[in-house]
Amino acid sequence: MIVGGGLHGLATAYYLAKTHENSDVAVLERNWIGGGNAGRNTTIVRSDYHLPGNREFFEHSLELWENLSHELNYNVMFSQRGYVSLVHSPSSEDERARAFNIMRMTGSDGEYWPLQRVRKEIPLLDFERARFPIHGAFCQPRAGTARHDAVVWGYARAASALGVDIIQNCEALGFERDGCSVDAVMTSRGRIGLNKLGLSVAGSTSRLWEMLGLHDLPLESHLLQAFVTEPVKPILNHVIAFIVGGQDFYINQSDKGGLVFGGDLDGYKSYRQRGKPGVAADTAASALSILPSFARAQMLRGWAGLCDMTMDGSPFICDTPLDNVYLNAGWNYGGFKATPAAGTFFADLIQNRRPSDVISRFRLDRFARGHCIDEHGLGPIPKAHG
Ligand SMILES: Cc1cc2nc3c(=O)[nH]c(=O)nc-3n(C[C@H](O)[C@H](O)[C@H](O)COP(=O)(O)OP(=O)(O)OC[C@H]3O[C@@H](n4cnc5c(N)ncnc54)[C@H](O)[C@@H]3O)c2cc1C
Repeated sequence: MIVGGGLHGLATAYYLAKTHENSDVAVLERNWIGGGNAGRNTTIVRSDYHLPGNREFFEHSLELWENLSHELNYNVMFSQRGYVSLVHSPSSEDERARAFNIMRMTGSDGEYWPLQRVRKEIPLLDFERARFPIHGAFCQPRAGTARHDAVVWGYARAASALGVDIIQNCEALGFERDGCSVDAVMTSRGRIGLNKLGLSVAGSTSRLWEMLGLHDLPLESHLLQAFVTEPVKPILNHVIAFIVGGQDFYINQSDKGGLVFGGDLDGYKSYRQRGKPGVAADTAASALSILPSFARAQMLRGWAGLCDMTMDGSPFICDTPLDNVYLNAGWNYGGFKATPAAGTFFADLIQNRRPSDVISRFRLDRFARGHCIDEHGLGPIPKAHG
């Protein structure tokens, strides 16, 4: 039984059925599949993580993305248009250089673009009057975007064809426990017995954790918003991102033409999927600080998702204090790109009851053991990790 019909729940069900030939699987979704973060993200796929654990996991995920449309026989519109991370100071250049050197030394792709190259590739950027002058950029050419709801439908269709039951409008409301194992889930549509339980509920993980009678989950739920403008003709060929003054910003143009962009978390814990209005203004200001011509675009809509933020910014794919319950959570705001690998390794963990080497660091007890995976060196402040 998988609770959560987002990308990770559906991908896990698919790999259980496909790789492990186990189609005795049900996915419970309280609303409609893809109605959570799966359908609310900014669709960026990259693998520029450099710490052991994250490095091999996200690189493997990117490799899986490269064949995903064929794997699912469904066009997920994966577009390797390149992820360009702008640098605005010598220290950010050093930090990015270190990450990109590690990526290249471990078989991935990555390029340094001096200022002349950035000017040539992305002439729209403001090189003369930007509040934080652009020094150069690092680009991962194999990175890009995919269409998020196509990925949901692709996994759901393929899993369903292999015999997986996907049950929508069915909320998990409680669990029947027998000592250290769970026998059944109580849902809005009745009781369902189970042998093994996998949680893939992103920002709702702490709620289900409590329903299971468990405590001390090292995770907080925070809101992240994204925005899109009216469609315009193709003008932005890459994904662009930067961090200055602690403010995160990323933008790409969707295949429909809208400029899709986002920034930082709203800054407080919440279970509402509705963001605070001031964040729209701050994020739009970030856009205009490097792309002033976008001031003429009309904003069409904005939305918020519920992110499962961990103390070190890295995820969990692991067992739990209960014998037959497994956890997939803590994706912060980077779980879209993780989808194929998270599904692969979570399915493997549930099926074989032991973690593959690749996810052996994604454990709940890593904080107690002092083995954090803190990519940005920001410490135990969940809202600081993007
Ligand atoms: C604004 C925004 C932008 C983002 N941008 C990016 C990006 O560019 N790149 C990237 O890699 N990642 C990005 N992310 C993160 C990414 O979207 C998430 O990490 C990822 O989607 C989480 O996995 P999921 O799809 O399984 O989650 P979800 O889609 O949230 O799935 C969880 C599901 O569980 C269901 N559920 C919850 N409680 C219950 C219950 N009691 N019973 C039954 N079902 C339940 C929910 O309804 C939901 O459908 C972004 C997130 C947001 C919010």
